[in-house]
Amino acid sequence: MMKFPVIVIVACLILGTVIPSFCAEDESGFWVSEIDEATFARIKGKSYKDDCPIPLEDLRYLHVLHKDLQGITHGGELICNVYIASDVLEIFRALFLAGYPVERVRLVDEYDADDETSMRDNNSSCFNFRFISHTTRISKHGLGLAVDINTLYNPYVKTVKGKLTIEPDTAGEYTDRSKKFPYKIEKGDLCYKLFTERGFEWGGEWKSVKDYQHFEVSDEVARKLYPDYR
Ligand SMILES: [Zn+2]
Repeated sequence: MMKFPVIVIVACLILGTVIPSFCAEDESGFWVSEIDEATFARIKGKSYKDDCPIPLEDLRYLHVLHKDLQGITHGGELICNVYIASDVLEIFRALFLAGYPVERVRLVDEYDADDETSMRDNNSSCFNFRFISHTTRISKHGLGLAVDINTLYNPYVKTVKGKLTIEPDTAGEYTDRSKKFPYKIEKGDLCYKLFTERGFEWGGEWKSVKDYQHFEVSDEVARKLYPDYR
């Protein structure tokens, strides 16, 4: 009974040396690169709007693998700030290896950089340049310093003067966090741990609003990198 796994391990060691990708399904699908011309053509005028003051050199393209709820492996793409690129790559690698389900990881540009459409599709993403409504303040997504995971099941929830705002607005049934449902991020789960142990803050722990999909670097770090960030 014990011989089979030993044989498999030995085969992996031999073949893994000869063909590095043989026993390292994770290795070949994970990489970081600079924003080349082809990638820039995909984001220009969309997530990288014409008034975007963030230099392209500050951004990185990430290719990752992820598994959906059925355990099927998919390739994913995202763009984030160079400051968090290796952390985000390692987080996605750990989620993949653990089989933590992430349904979709596509560039938000495939949704014309429209957050609402991307979130309704349960898409996970990072960089999307924009000013916060009615201000000249850039959001952390605009700096590529915030990551949203499994967005439909982990909505943004805010109550202003008794009026409830949910983003995406199709996520009403996922605002009750005492319920059980797939793709839900909870305090203490693997996704939460991987981000917070690398210094990210979780929007699910905010007081006035709840942003269950959202992990971001602190204001302090953002200001250190971009002194104009307020
Ligand atoms: Zn977010």
